[in-house]
Amino acid sequence: MEQRVPSPPFTDNLPIDADRLWQKVMDLAEITEPSRPYTRRSFTPMFEKGRRWIKACFEEAGLTVGVDAAGNMIGHLSGMDPASGTIMIGSHSDTVPNGGRFDGTAGVMTGLEIVHSLRERGIRLRHNLEIIDFLAEEPSDFGLSCVGSRAMTGKLTPAMLGYPGPGGERLAAAIARMGGTPEGLGDILRRDIVAFFELHIEQGAVLERSEIDIGVVSGIAGVTRMEVVFEGSADHAGTTPMHLRRDASIAGAQMMVFVNSLAQRIANQGRGHFVATSGVVEVSPNAANVVPRTMRIIIDARAEERPAMDRFIVAVKREAAVIAENCAVRLECCNILSDSNPVACDPGLRAVLRHAARDLGLSTLDMASGAGHDAAFMASIAPAAMVFIPSVDGKSHRPDEWSEPSALAAGAATLFEAILLCDGPDAARHSVLPTLAKPVEQ
Ligand SMILES: [Zn+2]
Repeated sequence: MEQRVPSPPFTDNLPIDADRLWQKVMDLAEITEPSRPYTRRSFTPMFEKGRRWIKACFEEAGLTVGVDAAGNMIGHLSGMDPASGTIMIGSHSDTVPNGGRFDGTAGVMTGLEIVHSLRERGIRLRHNLEIIDFLAEEPSDFGLSCVGSRAMTGKLTPAMLGYPGPGGERLAAAIARMGGTPEGLGDILRRDIVAFFELHIEQGAVLERSEIDIGVVSGIAGVTRMEVVFEGSADHAGTTPMHLRRDASIAGAQMMVFVNSLAQRIANQGRGHFVATSGVVEVSPNAANVVPRTMRIIIDARAEERPAMDRFIVAVKREAAVIAENCAVRLECCNILSDSNPVACDPGLRAVLRHAARDLGLSTLDMASGAGHDAAFMASIAPAAMVFIPSVDGKSHRPDEWSEPSALAAGAATLFEAILLCDGPDAARHSVLPTLAKPVEQ
């Protein structure tokens, strides 16, 4: 894809080097499975090659690089007052198959660029600064996502460590292969992090459509998956009169329409981000001349506010029973398959990000993240916040995923200023210190 050129007047005045940052993101993208760009699946030799490159970049910037028990790669820069705790910036370097060049890597390379810029400006932070590449944020071959951030926050269970992957290798062994020490997992690994920041591409089109520079993430949506199965009767499609049918697909279709209109109603109530999708639809026997006997739907619903999700679940269960009765079919099941709570980003750090952006003349929008991120786990052990930068056409998890160089630079500059606000004596002016004054104890 052609590289589009950022407008010089904007990037000239930034506290970071926009060109250097852009080049690093593009260079890392070149480390890909050659036959299917852009692919760097976690735990693969290509992923390790990417990490060796990142490690060299970290060391070149003066960071001390190590791998923690969870297999996260961390570049460390000691502060003048290490006892004041650690400010951490990061994201992930693994990709989905045939993914893009920005998802995850934009956040890791932004951390690197901030370290370069601090050094060039002769700024030594009071806090320690760490840049982290979380292990396996994308769904891995072990059937689990956010492996590194889960483990760091004490949420990777012994059962998960036993999940089998390719060739029967257990997740614990794979983490060890990445340099981690799985036997040291189970508890919270870090209690010194006073602020965690993740810059990420939006992966949606909200910022671009509203022509806003920076998304300040208010929270990361919780995800609930529900399975609904209707059971009817598989009769001959030619001989069974309409009034004698027990067609499970009609119940299923009504359910899908209900889910969509219910989600629209909840979304319009103005209590945060809410979306729902019937993404899996299976009809059986799925034959042209047979009345469908069963229809199975998997609903993926995401809410920024838990009460909205609770209302959704109750309404779906109630309606599924009503539809089954009206369609003369049986409601085989209406179950919750998985359910995670939404996570709020830290109000103090969000205020800092808005302030930093404003100082740079950038516009901001408070918005929820409908996608999961490592920051959601980090929020359980430290104040955490996220910066979103616009994704062109909202495309993500595909090779033409794109963010403009100027957008990336704006996000990195915002984070640079935010780090200084968090670290410096004038942090107090922005009411951050209540959360930053002491290392987080849990
Ligand atoms: Zn990502």
